[in-house]
Amino acid sequence: MKKHLRLIIEIVLGLLLAGALAFGYWSYSGKKHIMSELTEASEGASEVQQELDKLTKELEEAKEKLEETEPAAKQLDAVKESFANGVVLQDYEAFIKAQKGPVTSERQLGLGALRLLTKGADDPETVSAFQKALEMAEWSSRVKSICAAQNALAAAGQKVKVLADCALEKEAKAHKKGHVHWDYAGDMGPENWGDEFPTCGKGQKQAPLNITGPFEKSKDVLVVNYKEGPLKILNNGHTIQVNVEPGSTLKVNKDVYNLLQFHFHRPSEEQIDGKPMAMVAHFVHKSAEGKLAVLGVLLSDGKDNAAIQTLWNNAPKSEGPEVVVDKVKFDPSSLVPAALTHYSYEGSLTTPPCTEGVNFYILKTPVDIGKKQVVDFPFKRNARPVQPLNGRKINAN
Ligand SMILES: [Zn+2]
Repeated sequence: MKKHLRLIIEIVLGLLLAGALAFGYWSYSGKKHIMSELTEASEGASEVQQELDKLTKELEEAKEKLEETEPAAKQLDAVKESFANGVVLQDYEAFIKAQKGPVTSERQLGLGALRLLTKGADDPETVSAFQKALEMAEWSSRVKSICAAQNALAAAGQKVKVLADCALEKEAKAHKKGHVHWDYAGDMGPENWGDEFPTCGKGQKQAPLNITGPFEKSKDVLVVNYKEGPLKILNNGHTIQVNVEPGSTLKVNKDVYNLLQFHFHRPSEEQIDGKPMAMVAHFVHKSAEGKLAVLGVLLSDGKDNAAIQTLWNNAPKSEGPEVVVDKVKFDPSSLVPAALTHYSYEGSLTTPPCTEGVNFYILKTPVDIGKKQVVDFPFKRNARPVQPLNGRKINAN
């Protein structure tokens, strides 16, 4: 019983501290986004309160039955009483006064939390205690305190939604550029994309596909008209991408699509009869009406590819913004085979948010890439697994 009681007291104190810190932060910065999390945190607090009430009741019931639980019940009452009458606050204030040297920000925050607990949020001294604490500490260290309190609660078995800023700290690298984090493996891997990006999980026309017969006869005629332009290349953390200036087009029958960019996956995302190729290049196009079309060029193990070498020589090794390589001009058609026979199907973006309504044209003729060139691609594996067909037809010509 005693152990249980101590845990409950610790949880309540931890929650109050976390709530108080969040309250302090909110009043300090006026950041509204934290309020929803704070509300949830306080819902968590009321759950703990309910649990505490329940336990108090249990203790009271037990007290009637068992003499030996009396000290525990008294201890709990004593704790509640000492908060209510301000004894703990007085003790803590005395403790802080007795310390040599400056008060640490953590202790100042603790003082604020105790004031909040004892005198309430309306008490001007509560607010000033927090303000003083906030002036003392860098926000990063405040976040650390909040996150530590949250982690302690989570470890104690409490359901606590981690504050946005704690998540930020946890995945600081992923969030520093301001985009939502996803990956090709681990917690944020393809099987979990649907958590953050619903279409990735619920979509019925997702890509890539395993391309296998029987096929419908395709009557689509493709015309590739790509032009040489300055090399604009970037490593976006998921692939090497080349951005293309306006003027390069793909015609599908009478529809004209403008080439926006092309990028690479290793191995190829598309499979032919269950087998991927070494890599694939995706040429992403958009029509004036906003329709998307992807031309896929499969890259198979073979001779070194001069066009690929030009790209790899200029591709940034780590994530960063677009680099314009002044002296290098690049013609995207140098990566496209002469024969444009293809498989086609309706699919989606193969990266989050997995938006559907993308027409895929995967060329049947692969292009060579050297084995070392495959190894030199800075992403070991950046291919989404093949997706269910869900009754779609794959066309071929
Ligand atoms: Zn792609």
